[in-house]
Order: sequence, then structure tokens, then C-alpha cells
Amino acid sequence: MKKKFDFISLILATIVTIVLLIVHIIYGDVSLGINTVNNLVILPISLLFYLLVSYDLFIESFKKIRHKQFFDEVTLSLIATIAAFAIGEYVEALAVVVFFQVGERFEKYAVDKSRNSIKSILDLRPDKVTLYNDEIEKVVEPFDVNIGDLFIVKSGERVPIDGVVIEGKSSLDTSSITGESVPRSVKENDEILSGTINIGSPLVIKATKEFYNSTVSKMLDLVENASSQKANSEKFITKFAKIYTPIVISLAVLVAIIPPLIINYSDPSVWSNYIRTAASFLVISCPCALVLSVPMSYFVTLGEASKQKVLIKGSTFIDKFTKLKNIVLDKTGTITKGNFVVTSINPVEGTSKDELLKLAKYGEYYSNHPIAHAVLNNDKESLNKDLLKDYQEIDGQGVKVEYESSTLLIGNSKLLSSNNIEFNKVDSPFTILYVAYKGKYLGYIEIKDEIKESSKLAIANYHKNGVKKVIMLTGDNQNIAKVIAQDAGVDEFHANLLPLDKTNKLKEIQQNATTAFIGDGVNDAPSLTTSDIGISMGGIGSDITIDSSDVVIMDDDLNRVNDVIKMSKRNKLVVYENIIFALAVKIGVMILSLIPNLPIASYIMWFAIFADVGVTVICVFNSLRLALHVKKQN
Ligand code: ADP
Ligand code: MG
Repeated sequence: MKKKFDFISLILATIVTIVLLIVHIIYGDVSLGINTVNNLVILPISLLFYLLVSYDLFIESFKKIRHKQFFDEVTLSLIATIAAFAIGEYVEALAVVVFFQVGERFEKYAVDKSRNSIKSILDLRPDKVTLYNDEIEKVVEPFDVNIGDLFIVKSGERVPIDGVVIEGKSSLDTSSITGESVPRSVKENDEILSGTINIGSPLVIKATKEFYNSTVSKMLDLVENASSQKANSEKFITKFAKIYTPIVISLAVLVAIIPPLIINYSDPSVWSNYIRTAASFLVISCPCALVLSVPMSYFVTLGEASKQKVLIKGSTFIDKFTKLKNIVLDKTGTITKGNFVVTSINPVEGTSKDELLKLAKYGEYYSNHPIAHAVLNNDKESLNKDLLKDYQEIDGQGVKVEYESSTLLIGNSKLLSSNNIEFNKVDSPFTILYVAYKGKYLGYIEIKDEIKESSKLAIANYHKNGVKKVIMLTGDNQNIAKVIAQDAGVDEFHANLLPLDKTNKLKEIQQNATTAFIGDGVNDAPSLTTSDIGISMGGIGSDITIDSSDVVIMDDDLNRVNDVIKMSKRNKLVVYENIIFALAVKIGVMILSLIPNLPIASYIMWFAIFADVGVTVICVFNSLRLALHVKKQN
């Protein structure tokens, strides 16, 4: 109701302002001429519409003053309009508030649009969960579901909470979470992520997480908090406005009072002249254009990025992307597909291939590493997990577990060396998994991963987008690292690194240049948090990924980083354009307004209005271009 009322008042007020403006132009400056018309007709009309469109600005201002936040850009405009009324410039006063509100509306529209595009990919928040206990269905709020509860997801419904399938077979549309467009088929015991949509038959799922810890909630948090991580230029504008506004108001007061006192304090026309100068000075100096358009640019860019399936934690990272000098990449799952396949099984004498592979499968039973998926090859059912105890995953080395009460080791050469196992190091262009059981080396398994088709092009484009160095880090062996590094076209690589070594290397690289780390989220958390920009991809399912990254690439494509670099640079350009344009116009008009006795002196308020509201609208439109640009590109 209030919204509609405000909207209609604003439209009427705009029309009235334009009509009055035309009258003003045709009949000259009414405030000096036909005084009766001015006072009996124009004053009441202007005042009425002025109050209609500005009452909420007054309320806002009073609230701020009560909270001791004096003098923001709104207060400044209002003081200027009151001064304009005082000297009989009614239409001008009306115009200031009308155009101010029009500018705000445009800004709101743009921000809402971006917010919607961020929300649309995150339009995932489930409102209800259908619990399923003893064949009885009961609809509850997502927050009321505990770990271990069973719930049912029917065809077309979105999975509300992360869980594991207990009953049913179906297909899931995972595109909103992983960007993967091919549906994923699921059956009993498969883990599924919240946010995916069941497009087949009903599934009974056991909750493995609470709602607030589920994938969807975490993604929503990331995006919803985006605006709290402000870019430096945004913070600068806010700070700038805080210092700048009171200075400008004091200056205006001085301009209004001192010259008349010196020239002739008993002549009301001298007073009205200088009050007019002061009021226009106030209107011109309003920082609205920047206060509105700069944060808006960032917001639009965040929105556009999320349309491209890139979630960014805040505008500060948009700035960092423009300065990006180094990109450090993890190998497995980032440059490569992370879909290993076993290429050979090589037992020592006295052990069979089947035995070696079976041991390896037991070892990897609990691991979530891409290597484990290759070894297990979807064959968990044939294993008896009761034979396993004390499972340990040793980051960057492999796994250690008690199998039938003896120690089983699977991993790289580091793992065996550190457990004092004697073995022969194998020289191979593949990833090697050494297997040792009961303190004896039993053989090795070769596994192979492939480079993603998109990696080469993406890495070549990093260079084109101004990145100086692309560096690959891996825990894998030197041979394989070299092959992949050459194939992918990185400038430098380091192999045999433990996760902590990776972080140290990263710190070294980062010392004097903005550095991004891109990983798949599997044991990369320390590097993700250490880097200037931590980018994770594909690993959305893993717990720590979203928490420790600044940027999440949902569809696993390294090229998205290029898109974001380009978007960030465009954003920077627009922000600079707006700052320079706004300041140039304002300073120009400000100088005009302070020169006494110009022929345009009585119209100076209109120049002021252009310098303020006109510039704001132009800047806001300029920022909106950021959204248009991306649309054209796709
Ligand atoms: P990357 O740096 O390529 O992402 P990781 O740091 O994840 O690799 O792992 C480094 C190395 O540690 C792997 O190449 C492998 O040799 C060993 N490794 C890690 N996890 C496992 C596992 N679950 N099973 C066997 N080996 C593993
Ligand atoms: Mg890894």
C-alpha cells in the first residue's frame, strides 16, 4: 500500500516538476518576477509534492541524527532544499528530491536484479522436509531434522538436507550444485547433496548432517554474506562521504553568512543571493552519485558472476582479481579430471594380482580421495568392513588401517619410507600406489588420471589476462608432475609436496604479488585460506570447501577464472569512469556557482541539480552496463 502510494506520488511529482520547469523556462525566473503567482500557486503545489516524495527521507534523516550519524548525503540534500524554499526557489527544491528519489529507484532496481540473479542459482532453500518414520510421513521444518532421521524426497522435489540413500533408485539433477548437466543416478548407500533435485522415483534418505551444516545452507551463507566483505574502494567512498559531508555543510554555511555580513547585511536580496549560492553548492557537492553507483557496480558484478556459476564471497575479491599476478593450481582434480583408472597391478613374487587389489580396496574403503574411487571401482559391497579398524588418512601420503589386526599401508613412497618398509622405487609416468601389509612390501598399482580438455586453454588464457605466472603444486611424484605440467602449459611446477609444503610454497610465491590458489577442496583447505584468493572447484560436496574458499566455481571449469578476471577489470573501469565523471562535473559546477554575477547565476540551482542528480542517474546507468555486457557475451 505504502509502496504503491510512494510510487504514484513519485510519478505525479516528476510530471509536476517537469511542467513547473517548463513554466519556469517560459516565464523566466518567477521568484524574481510575478511574486503572487509564485506564492499562491507554485509554492503550495511544490510544497505538497515535495512533502509527498520526501517524507521518508526526513524520517530516515531524523533517525540517523538520533543515532548521532549526522550529515550523510540525504541530510545534505534536505538542508539544501530547505534553503531553496527559504529563498523562494520552490521548483528547484522539489526537483532535487524528485530526482534524488528517481535515482534511488534505478539503483534499487539494479541491485534487486542482481540479487535475484544471485538468488536464482541459490533458489534452493527448502521450506519443508517430509520425515518418514515407520512408513508414516510427517512434514516438518528443515531445522527440526536431526542427524539419522529418515526423510522422503519424491519426484520433482529438492533434497533438503545432505544424506545417504536408504531405499530407492533414482536420478538426480545436480546442476544447481555442481553445474554438471548430466543427471546422476543414485541407489542405496549413495551419498547425496542437498540442493539436488530428484527427477526419478521416490527416495528414502537418512540425514547425515543437520540443516545448517548442509551444502545448501553453506552456499546460501556464502552468498548472503557477500556484501559484508566490502571492497576497499567501497569502504573508501563510505569513509570519504563521512568526512566530506560535514566539511561541505560547514563551507555552505560560511558561504551563506560571511559575504552578506561583509557586503551589506541589511539588504535581503544580498542574503537571498548568497543563500542560493550556498544551497546550490550543497546540492552539487552531494556525493550521491558515488555513494550509490560504486557499491552498485560491485553488486552487479557479483550477480553476473553467479549467473556464470561462480560464487564470490565479497566485493573485496573482485578488486583482488584485477591485481592477480600468480595463479597456483593443485594438480589432482583441478588440472586433471581426478577420475583415476587402474592401469596395471604389479605384485611381488608370492602375491597374486587379485590379492594385491583386494588389499588395496580394503585400504581405501573409507577414503574419499579420487584415488580411492579408482581402486574401489564401485565395489564396496564385496568387502567386509568389520575386518577394518583404526583407519587413518595421512594427507599427501596415503592411508593406514588395521586389516585383520595387522597394519595395511597404501600410498606413495613417502608413506612406505616413513613406516620403514623396504621397497624398490618404481620409475613410471603414472601415479604409483605402493602396498605394504604386515610390515612387508607386496607390490604396486599404477593409476592414471587425464588432464581436463579445458585446462590447457584456460591456462593459456590466464596469461592473456595479465597473469604473470601459473604454477602447479602436487603431492604426486616428479615424473607424473612433469608430464602433466608440460601438457597443461604451466610455467612452473613442484612435486612431492605434503599439504603443508604446498601452503609454505604458496606463501613464498605470494610474498610480493597477489596470488590465487585453485584447488578441488580435497585436503587443500590450508592453501585455500592462506592465498589472497582461495578458489575451490568441483569439491562442493566436501565439508571444508565452502568454508575455506573465497570463490567457489560450481561447474568445475578452470576457464571461469578468466571470466571473473575480465568482469572484475570491467567493474574497475566503470568505477573509475564514475568517480572521474562525477568529480569533474561537480568541481566544474561548483566553481561556476562560486563565481559572483555570472549571467546564469539565477539558474545555478538547475546546474547544481544536474551535477547532483543527473550525474547520479548517469553513473547508475553506467554501472548497469556491467550486467548488459555479460548478457551479450553469452
Ligand atoms: P595432489 O597434490 O595431486 O592433489 P594429494 O595431496 O591429494 O595430491 O595426494 C598426494 C599423494 O598422496 C597422491 O599422489 C598419492 O600418492 C598419495 N595419496 C593421497 N591420498 C591417498 C589415498 N587415499 N590412497 C593412496 N594414496 C594416496
Ligand atoms: Mg588434492
